Amino acid sequence: MPDSTHPSKPGKKLSCMEMLQLILDGDASPEQQQEFTTHMDECMPCYKTYHLETALKMLIKSKCNGHGAPPHLIEKIKAQISQNTPH
Ligand SMILES: [Zn+2]
Repeated sequence: MPDSTHPSKPGKKLSCMEMLQLILDGDASPEQQQEFTTHMDECMPCYKTYHLETALKMLIKSKCNGHGAPPHLIEKIKAQISQNTPH
């Protein structure tokens, strides 16, 4: 039985950006999520970006009730988060 639910070839290596995008958009398969979790342990840029973006999303959601945050607020939150991030 052909598997039409996976249009991309299995085993295809995604770049960091492609992977991050899939995860953040919620489009990643469970397999890809697992792969990304492992990948984050050894890839600091991915780790940082992932946690920055998820924290940002949650903050914006809780502060703006889904009405969309003004850009200056997003910048402010981003600055706060990067200040709190240890080296
Ligand atoms: Zn990476």
